[in-house]
Amino acid sequence: MRPDHDVVIVGAGFGGMGAAIELKRLGIDDIAILEREDDLGGTWHVNHYPGLAVDIASVTYSYSFEPNPYWSRLFAPGVELKQYAEHVADKYDLKRHMEFGTVVRTAEWDDSEQLWRVTTGSGVRTCRYFVTATGFLSQPHTPDFPGIDSFAGTIIHTTAWEDGHEFAGERAAIIGTGATAVQLIPEIAERADELTVFQRTPIWVVPKLDFAIPPGAQKIFARVPFTQRIARMVNTSLLEALMVFGVLHFRQAKPGNRLAALVAKAHLRAQVRDRATRRALTPSYDFGCKRPTFSNTYFRTFNKPNVSLQTSSIERVEPDGIVTADGEKVLVDTLVLATGFNLWDVNFPAFQIIGRDGRDLGKWWRDNRFQAYEGITVPAFPNLLSLNSPYSYSGLSYFTTIEGQMKHMRRLFGELKRRGATTFEVTTDANDRFLAEVTDNLQSSVFYNGNCASARSYYFNQHGEAALLRPNSTLSTLRQMERFPVDAYRYS
Ligand code: NAP
Repeated sequence: MRPDHDVVIVGAGFGGMGAAIELKRLGIDDIAILEREDDLGGTWHVNHYPGLAVDIASVTYSYSFEPNPYWSRLFAPGVELKQYAEHVADKYDLKRHMEFGTVVRTAEWDDSEQLWRVTTGSGVRTCRYFVTATGFLSQPHTPDFPGIDSFAGTIIHTTAWEDGHEFAGERAAIIGTGATAVQLIPEIAERADELTVFQRTPIWVVPKLDFAIPPGAQKIFARVPFTQRIARMVNTSLLEALMVFGVLHFRQAKPGNRLAALVAKAHLRAQVRDRATRRALTPSYDFGCKRPTFSNTYFRTFNKPNVSLQTSSIERVEPDGIVTADGEKVLVDTLVLATGFNLWDVNFPAFQIIGRDGRDLGKWWRDNRFQAYEGITVPAFPNLLSLNSPYSYSGLSYFTTIEGQMKHMRRLFGELKRRGATTFEVTTDANDRFLAEVTDNLQSSVFYNGNCASARSYYFNQHGEAALLRPNSTLSTLRQMERFPVDAYRYS
């Protein structure tokens, strides 16, 4: 049976676009990119709250093969990322493959026809190869606070920002102090009459060495691309050192980790006058247990007379405000949920995927351990590339992960072609070896040697395993992705 498409990719963010670029380079053009949102860009389309910017310098947070010399700042604002996504889609001729507003509900491998059947809201598509690029941080988490349905004011989750909402004259509340809230809180504090920040777990925040990139420097980047490559190399090396020595080799390099925590504490001390507030904003877990963030304005916002920090837990929501466990009531007109994303319950995978012999990927991961060979393929799931898999996220910039996976696809599809085969499936042996290797590598990390008990970090899953990050340097990830043994797969 001839399938509808050679490849269906789910997700038109940077992961899905990277996969499509690689497939087109391999000569595969019959690709459908299905996207549930109404435009491309993934995270950078969905998120448009005030203050949104990258927290990895833009020279690194972009495809290495498609540098953008015109980033306006070292850390570009979110809107430039969305423009960059548009540019990439145009340049690599991806838009004609994209179908927006298409929600994938399930996907099932048909072993007799050797193809995938992908069920969307509007019917079934068949394809030879199926690529999921649905993101890690794509299923918003909306806590079920008692009484929240009775709230009479406005509730806004940061992923569904209401651009016209002014906040002027309002009493605003923000729940959450993750990376999103750290960017948003200084902005809302400027606009609202009163702002109460509900913090459950403080976050490590280090200074952001951000500045505008002068037009002269942009011109040099454009005319002599080598200069931007050097800038990328320097920045990527710094991030790599932070990740490898601060997080992955915590056991051997504790002083590096302690130094990062000291920098964050000094930053807090320099910015917040009140000692009790400083104490409340100081994490009790080790640096790196959860993703730290960068900001020059977050801490100092708590000095403002219209801003208060609330650390007592939320007991219930009433029509006009929030009641905390210590009995205090905070009156609220607009409630902002900066409560992040659900990774481990409703993601992994983002919808039901049924492989060979009826194996349900989500159930199999939960009943066994979360696992994927090289963070991309799974035994009993032929012709599936699951880009947002356990142990796939390598380094701090998501683009390292994407480009590693593009290398993996190049080698895998090259081998399929060489053998004249159309189906691949990773062997259980190769998968087991990879899982043993990452498990072993993680033993030195801050996750298993540091004090992470109070971090409530999304790096950890429901089994208590830090199964998100690939525990090796990005250089070794890239090397392994391009040189994995081809007999890790069965071909037919
Ligand atoms: P997050 O890090 O998961 O933070 C969610 C916040 O909501 C946490 O402070 C959490 O507290 C709080 N929360 C959740 N449920 C709660 C409840 N029931 N009661 C009270 N508080 C609750 O999510 P995020 O801030 O959206 O960031 C997610 C990731 O997105 C970041 O780590 C980063 O990787 C990425 N990001 C990147 C950028 C960028 O600049 N590129 C910007 C924003 C986000 P607990 O910690 O106690 O659970």
